[in-house]
Amino acid sequence: MKDIYDVVIIGGGPAGMTAGLYACRARAKALLLEKMACGGQVLLTYTIENFPGFPEGIKGPELAEWMLKQAEHFGLKVKTAEAKKIILKKAEKEPFVVELADGDKIETASLIIATGARWNYLNIPGERELTGRGVSYCATCDGPLFKNKDVIVVGGGDTALEDALFLTRFANKVTIVHRRDKLRATKILQERVLANKKVELCLDAVATEIIGKDKCEGLKIKDIKTNKEKELKASGVFIFIGIVPNSDLARPVIKTDEKGYIISDDDMRTSVDGIFACGDVRKKTLRQIVTAVGEGATAAFSAQHYVERLKGTAYPA
Ligand code: NAP
Repeated sequence: MKDIYDVVIIGGGPAGMTAGLYACRARAKALLLEKMACGGQVLLTYTIENFPGFPEGIKGPELAEWMLKQAEHFGLKVKTAEAKKIILKKAEKEPFVVELADGDKIETASLIIATGARWNYLNIPGERELTGRGVSYCATCDGPLFKNKDVIVVGGGDTALEDALFLTRFANKVTIVHRRDKLRATKILQERVLANKKVELCLDAVATEIIGKDKCEGLKIKDIKTNKEKELKASGVFIFIGIVPNSDLARPVIKTDEKGYIISDDDMRTSVDGIFACGDVRKKTLRQIVTAVGEGATAAFSAQHYVERLKGTAYPA
């Protein structure tokens, strides 16, 4: 039993790091697997204004760093590795096996899936070809490259509006192209966008093609009411049209919805006893850092109780 973990957490975003913090404070033998740097999508967020405790906001990478430091302070071990496959238990007291990309195998009594989500693609001509040549999915990373240039943001959600506002720090003009006649984002972001003279709204419009040969020169759009097409000139096109769950690893063994989000209950229990899920990879209504960390804590608590029941060390009910 020496090399078997109590809990292995897959994914090092806010949900996974919080699960690690709670697991370690419960004195569970815990390991967090993360294929890149811990922080997840938070690393791509310039300022976070709605995480309680920071009245003036906090930079995404800074918040991620503090979360990791806190979890490691309580003993969380982080291994940089990509989990490739989950092998289910053959019997309750046997371990789950996580196969890593390098062929290594890790055994654990319980598992927490916190693999998060990634951005969506428009899948229009020119998008793949011009990615990195003016087409971007990260304003924090690429925004400074567009000083005094005109850029376009596609999307009408929180990410699109937040990042459009961020881009106004550098760009000459930011045009938000959205396929509906109103925006989806939180009202406070809509108010800021409407008040910002550098932002123009282009509603009821779908993006049909990114224009440019070697670099992005603009976006072709179609008005959904008139069906008329036109070209908007721009040096950059930022695409923020929502996310898809990183559930390729989980899907073969755990129940997901039709979009691939993991189905779990209020205690973060999935369809497999001993496997828990938290954060953006879960099916839920509100995807925020605050909900992710709450779910991470709950998942660790549930995993701890599951393992104690297996070991016969659970506190009497
Ligand atoms: P989102 O809320 O799903 O919004 C995606 C936007 O892209 C929607 O307006 C959607 O249009 C549009 N869209 C989707 N597919 C499209 C397509 N093929 N062509 C054109 N437009 C398309 O995604 P998000 O903004 O990335 O946010 C993801 C989650 O993170 C949300 O839960 C959000 O609240 C959260 N988030 C929160 C914050 C914050 O609290 N500060 C910041 C960022 C993200 P429709 O409206 O027509 O569907």
